[in-house]
Amino acid sequence: MSAADLLALTPAGLYCRAGDFHIDPLRPVPRALITHGHSDHARPGHAKVLATRETLAIMALRCGDDFAAATQAIAYGEKLMLGEVEVSFHPAGHVLGSAQIRLAVPGQVIVISGDYKRERDPTCTAFEPVPCDIFVTEATFGLPVFRHARSRDEIGKLLTSCTLFPERAHLVGAYALGKAQRIIALLREHGYERPVYLHGAMEKLTDFYLSEGINLGEIRKVAADDRAKLGGEIIICPPSALQDLWSRKFPDPVAAFASGWMRVRARARQRGIELPLVISDHADWDGLCATIRETRCGQVLVTHGEADALVHWARSEGIAAEPLHLIGYGDEEAEPKEEGP
Ligand SMILES: [Zn+2]
Repeated sequence: MSAADLLALTPAGLYCRAGDFHIDPLRPVPRALITHGHSDHARPGHAKVLATRETLAIMALRCGDDFAAATQAIAYGEKLMLGEVEVSFHPAGHVLGSAQIRLAVPGQVIVISGDYKRERDPTCTAFEPVPCDIFVTEATFGLPVFRHARSRDEIGKLLTSCTLFPERAHLVGAYALGKAQRIIALLREHGYERPVYLHGAMEKLTDFYLSEGINLGEIRKVAADDRAKLGGEIIICPPSALQDLWSRKFPDPVAAFASGWMRVRARARQRGIELPLVISDHADWDGLCATIRETRCGQVLVTHGEADALVHWARSEGIAAEPLHLIGYGDEEAEPKEEGP
């Protein structure tokens, strides 16, 4: 069987002919394997969906219980035959339930990593390198200038600001799936014990994380009338809310934004961010390169993001590499798209 039978690029996205399924398809298909719950990867309308139990639950929360005609949950490491292909899911360390998908036939293993990161995250299972012949990787931050700070240092900056400006409300823009909960968990790891306030748009997913046993401490919903009283508190909200009228009712608010893009000062300035926090749910340049080496793959296919630099690097390491030019994936973290409720 050729690699093209195992994985090909079609208008609907990555397609496995030998197993007759798509991975994170862009349009409704008969059978979809979904890496994680972010809206650019997990779209509604497929006939059958195979994903981790957590990803299926997240899709139901975001798109409604009828997001697919039929669903099947798969655990990390569990093996399943689809057509001639052995399929298994492995932790990607990106958000709760996120997975890399391994496709194996005799003599050939391909791993599609979806979105992933290598930094520790208390809210999801850590990334596991999966040995393979062909590794399909994202490259959201695939330029050598992207070296993320350590998230615990960034959380330290937020807490220092709270100490320096105890009368000001600290509004932290964060995406609703994964980032918001990670910020809260990191605050708790830092010993922050005050209640953390939450914008209503992040409630459903945060409740789901809590129901999965993730320790987030005391969470309170922001009541409209209470905003003026929240000086000195930390409030997590969608990034778009930072520019809304909603945010102006807080006492002298400090606008913070937790994103890998905050590494780019101009972006922070453009959005009026006073306190940029470089906290990303994607691998940075070093993480991408280290991961490619750890898979011991002979070929890399780069799906979305800054493909060219990563392709060039891989070739210089003696690894065959090609950009896939997949469009339609930017991740929720990428500019300028914003989250729905
Ligand atoms: Zn994602």
